[in-house]
Amino acid sequence: MEQNTATEGPNQYRCRLCSRAIFTADNIIPHQPSKPGVLGKDPCTSLFLDCAPWLEETAENDMKLLCPNPKCKAKLGEITLSGRKCSCGKWVAPAFQVNKGNVDEMRPIKL
Ligand SMILES: [Zn+2]
Ligand SMILES: [Zn+2]
Repeated sequence: MEQNTATEGPNQYRCRLCSRAIFTADNIIPHQPSKPGVLGKDPCTSLFLDCAPWLEETAENDMKLLCPNPKCKAKLGEITLSGRKCSCGKWVAPAFQVNKGNVDEMRPIKL
């Protein structure tokens, strides 16, 4: 019954363009969707992060949340300190919002 031993720690999220690991599930601030998903689908198209160190560096760039890889700098989402509405209708503030479509969720790699 020890199925969790193969994967330790939280899932990683990587930039879809450059595959750089940029945050983990631990950085995500969970919220309760305001409306349920249709047919079991996740109603949220966004992830909301706490303020990870790399976010502070990118926060100056027109409040766009960019990939921290200097060779990539893909736009991953938006930073809106006054808050932002998730696709589910839930208001999140301050919002460090990442579009799920811009990142890949990966199981943690066992070292
Ligand atoms: Zn990138
Ligand atoms: Zn949501």
